[in-house]
Amino acid sequence: INESADYTALLAERKAHIGRNLSISYKEPLKIVRGALQYLYDDKGRTFIDCVNNPCHVGHCHPVVVKALQQQAARLNTNTRYLHDNLVDYANQLIATLPPSLEVCFFTNSGSEANDLAIRMSRHYAKQKDVIVLDHAYHGTSTVAMELSPYKFDSKGGSGKPEHTHKALNPDMYRGPYRADDPEAGEKYAADVDRIIAGLKEQGRGVAAFICETLLGVGGQIPLPPGYLKAVYAAVKAAGGVCIADEVQVGFGRVGDAFWGFELQDVTPDIVVLGKPIGNGHPLAAVVTTRAVADAFNNGLEYFNTFGGNPVSMATGLAVLQVIKEEGLQEHARVTGNYFMEGLRRLKEKHAIIGDVRGHGFFIGAELVRDRTSLEPAVPEIDVVVEAMKQRGFLLSTDGPLHNVLKIKPPMVFNKANTDALLTHLDEVLSSL
Ligand code: PMP
Repeated sequence: INESADYTALLAERKAHIGRNLSISYKEPLKIVRGALQYLYDDKGRTFIDCVNNPCHVGHCHPVVVKALQQQAARLNTNTRYLHDNLVDYANQLIATLPPSLEVCFFTNSGSEANDLAIRMSRHYAKQKDVIVLDHAYHGTSTVAMELSPYKFDSKGGSGKPEHTHKALNPDMYRGPYRADDPEAGEKYAADVDRIIAGLKEQGRGVAAFICETLLGVGGQIPLPPGYLKAVYAAVKAAGGVCIADEVQVGFGRVGDAFWGFELQDVTPDIVVLGKPIGNGHPLAAVVTTRAVADAFNNGLEYFNTFGGNPVSMATGLAVLQVIKEEGLQEHARVTGNYFMEGLRRLKEKHAIIGDVRGHGFFIGAELVRDRTSLEPAVPEIDVVVEAMKQRGFLLSTDGPLHNVLKIKPPMVFNKANTDALLTHLDEVLSSL
């Protein structure tokens, strides 16, 4: 234990040689040196409970995943122009979790790259360029993914909305125009997509794709209103467009009641985009689509990806699916996530600053407000909460367009004892505000 560890030199080196438009979490940065399941350890020997890291889905350095990756890395890692069992084994196991129409896999190295590819495929299939996205959404950091991301193009330094991108209302039932007390909120938000499609038609244009997360992450940890995707997908399909579900944050059992977020809305997308949890932190992502979309994309131009689908990534993906199943993590996320939300709702009774508690399984948001009528965001109070929780050993983070939503999306092994401890400390921190 080095209590006097000082990061000045490390920060200076980082500043000198790492791109500076990359922020560092927390006022006093953490130097994390080890991870095990839901726990992270810093160089001073302190233990933190990770409440936000959804890529390390089945737990940091899960031994089954690490062993599978190590063994395959020691045997062979090469590209997909050679035959390899891991590639088809993984594709088969992955599509077994999806509706039968989603049967063709493309493997990439990041969610951004996968979204980029999904848009390219949609444009081939629909022979259109225009894409409908949700306001405040984030779909990644490649040039195309940025063009899908109001969170980026509308913010400071962003280049504004591209001509072929169209923003539909963020279906936020807490803060938006249609609220939780409106049983038709889903249809009403969906009507905004109809409006965009009609506007495009008037200009003689069509729709290549509609893309959204199936629970909104950066948009503010928001579950979609009932009936929303059913109405939107029907309208987009009728217009000849492709429906893309970005499951990068929420997939692989996180939402508890289902393996995939789109299942909560009882729809089948034409394309699903998978990332983060798929490789438990190993850089793996995927596009899974229908035969029709894949065939339209197969127009004579080869699609080759140097690292995508390599045997090490595939072994890792297989191990992640195995652990989710063997450890019953989807059911665990359902039970523990519900328990967590019940606890947060109890805190909401006591602390007026908690305006809303929402989520599904281990994808939870608590929106902090100064006033429950005006919904004025509790900023910077939320930052005080996050810093204080860090001091107490809980790593939390914020999201949402107003930066006032506490986001909770821990590794799936996060347990009831972790939940109880977090709730006790959060209660104390909120009481001391
Ligand atoms: N889609 C969503 C919903 C995301 O949250 C992210 C990453 N935060 C991405 C896509 C991009 O993934 P990656 O960072 O792996 O490129």
